[in-house]
Order: sequence, then C-alpha cells, then structure tokens
Amino acid sequence: MATTVRRMLTWLGAAALTAVAVLVGPTAAQAATPAWPTLSSGTSGANVTSAQFLLRHHGRTLSVDGYYGSGTVSAVQGFQSANGLTADGIVGPLTWSRLVVTLDVGANNNAVRALQTALNKYGHGLTVDGAWGTATTNAVNSFKASRGLTGGTTVGATTWQWLIGDGQGGGNYRLVIGRSVLPRSEYDDPHHDYPALDLPTWTGVTTYAITAGTISHVGGGCGYGIGISGDDGAYYQYCHLSSRSVAAGSRVSAGQVIGYTGNTGNSTGPHLHLEIRVNGGNRCPQQMLLALYDGASVPAPSALPSSGCTY
Ligand SMILES: [Zn+2]
Repeated sequence: MATTVRRMLTWLGAAALTAVAVLVGPTAAQAATPAWPTLSSGTSGANVTSAQFLLRHHGRTLSVDGYYGSGTVSAVQGFQSANGLTADGIVGPLTWSRLVVTLDVGANNNAVRALQTALNKYGHGLTVDGAWGTATTNAVNSFKASRGLTGGTTVGATTWQWLIGDGQGGGNYRLVIGRSVLPRSEYDDPHHDYPALDLPTWTGVTTYAITAGTISHVGGGCGYGIGISGDDGAYYQYCHLSSRSVAAGSRVSAGQVIGYTGNTGNSTGPHLHLEIRVNGGNRCPQQMLLALYDGASVPAPSALPSSGCTY
C-alpha cells in the first residue's frame, strides 16, 4: 500500500470532532440509537425479510422472500389501516414501531424469525426457525452487550431499532460503521494522494465487514489494519483500528463486527481509512459508501471510478 496513510485534519475539523466525542461519548455503545430504515417498493435484503416475518406475525398473508414487491405493499397497507396509520405501503419509523413486538427466551413465532434474520446480519448464523433456543439467547446476549443495551435477554423496541437500523445496507453489502456515527457529508470527501476514503470517527467505533470474504491482517503504516478478500472478487482494506476482533484467515459475513476504529500506524488523528481494490488497482469508495448510507442500490466495485476522488 502507499507509504503515506495520513489524515489531514484541519484545526477546525479536529475541534468539531472533539465536541462530537464529548457529546455522544467515546464508544459505539454510547452512540445514539440508529434511525429506523425506510423500506418501500423495490427494496430488498434482510430488513425486508424481517418486516415480512413481522407482518406475518400480525396475521398478514404474504411471501417471505426478502423482496419488497406488490404483495408486501398490500400487506403493509392492510397492517397500516388496521393500526390507524396512513396506508402508504411504506415501512417507515411509525410502522416499524407498531410492527416490532417484545420477545424473550422460549418464544416460538414469526417475530422470532424476524429477530433471527436480523441477528444474522451481524454474522450470528442462526437457523431461522422461529424457535428461541440457546443459540438465539447467545446471539441476543452478544449483540446487546456489543451495543451496551440493558434489560437481560428481552428484545424490546430499542434492541429492535439497533438490530434493524444499525449496519444497514443493500444486498450483499453493509455500511462499515453505524449509520448514525457520521453525517452523509463525510462519505463524499476526496482523499489525499490516491483513491481511498477517510472517515473521521473517534476511537472505539464498531467497524463492520463491508461484504463477505476472508480476513487478512495488515500492519506497517496501516497500523492495526484488516483486509477482506471479498467473495465479490474485490479487496477491501481498513486501517488505523484500535483493535481487531477477527483472526487472519477467518471468514466473515457482511455486517459482521471486525474491530474498532482508532489511530494506529501512520495516522495523525482517529479515523477509519478504507480502500477498495479491483485487480490490484485502487477504486474510489465514495459512491459505494454513499449508496450504502442512502440505502440505495450499491454499485459493483468494478463499476467504481479509479480517479476523481483525490485532492
Ligand atoms: Zn486515508
């Protein structure tokens, strides 16, 4: 990799980041609860599957296929009408709040299937059978501990919001940090010298695998760095972490926790440095990360430009 991996923090930027860190605390667990995603006709992915299972739990008839088609629109409209909501066929914050139900150990229903589907976004690999047994308990405990959530094994509205709203993204890809950590404007910034993206987080922000693949550890100027050789054929490199939580050679799924942001290696302030390489050449990550932030259709790595994102 290039020898210079250095974030150019302006004095003003550093001051603003300090203020953010004071306001919301140094760890992801203390960050604000992520916003509910808005699902509508044509969207797809695990959150759509969870919504479909929750609609079934509330007695609606529809296919559970992870695709928001006309059958899902009709089921959502029926659910909204029955609950005094505007029947627009779109699952936004109000509809999510009515769809989720409080669950605990021993439950056996379609809401548990929605929960198991959501937990699997974070790499838990549960069988989606609707039966809350030991494996589901372990996954819930792990997820709640990683987000600093209280209340024992109970999955209430706040835990649902973290499960559905955090680490979201489209298809086989997930945003690399929680959506609520940074504003959208941080995802389109150019990088110095060569195509990459610097996300100015504070230290300790939970970092997720952008896609499924095999882990390598990277050192040198990258500090505690992680490479993911993606199943999509692209290579993703994260630098300057404070710690890694996956071993070299291990497999990860999209959205799995791989470590925590930091300031190790050749870095002048806490940030997450991200590179995407296709056939060894760096691509501009900005369009891909913005699509993930927006919940929009994600461009293939090979479709990303190889210039135009540097200063
Ligand atoms: Zn950088």
